[in-house]
Amino acid sequence: MKKIGLIGGMSWESSQVYYEIINKKVRETLGGFHSSKCIMESVDFAEIEKLQHIGDWNTLNKIMIESARNLENAKADFIVLCTNTMHLCSEEITNNINIPFLHIAVATGKKIKEKNINKVLLLGTKFTMEKDFFKKILHYDYGIEVIIPNKDDREIVHKVIYEELVHGEIKPKSKENYQKIINNSIKNGAEGVILGCTEIPLLIKSEDVKIPVFDTTRIHAESAVKFALE
Ligand code: GLU
Repeated sequence: MKKIGLIGGMSWESSQVYYEIINKKVRETLGGFHSSKCIMESVDFAEIEKLQHIGDWNTLNKIMIESARNLENAKADFIVLCTNTMHLCSEEITNNINIPFLHIAVATGKKIKEKNINKVLLLGTKFTMEKDFFKKILHYDYGIEVIIPNKDDREIVHKVIYEELVHGEIKPKSKENYQKIINNSIKNGAEGVILGCTEIPLLIKSEDVKIPVFDTTRIHAESAVKFALE
């Protein structure tokens, strides 16, 4: 079994879900007393959030590279970055380590293709919805058309993540707002929705909406187990 190197803390609310999914999946696959070989480098999210919102991606790149290198030095066999947004640093990370990096959008693209879905709504932080680091992989590597909510709805989705979900707050009103945004996207041709922020699955479950849900936390964590056991 390979040792998984997790970069966590963004936020820890979702990092603990990664840890749980990974261990459950290893037990389900191997049975008995089996559990995952893994190590987590967990950052202080206050520093990260501040740098994101002032747009200091140089410093963020440095922090992510250092975290990945620490995991490599601690004998991790590959890296899993437990957040969609921080995949903005993925090129810098891969250029500075010598072990594989399991990209969250690649894992998600594969899953969407398996379901024969061609057009999806992407929900996440404004960075994930508006910048192209996630969308371009789905589009160019998997031929998936990605739509995002309108400006006001993007604001709602982003605010709920930073003001509620990363603090562990789950509010019925926010769930209702997300459900409206997702169900409205069906009119625009969305055949599925990507929960492209690792905390959104704490709020939205597949039974809450009318189209298939792609939970990036679960997809990424399970793809890590698959790779670890190959
Ligand atoms: N976990 C979130 C994501 O998947 C947002 C927190 C962050 O900015 O890293 O994008």
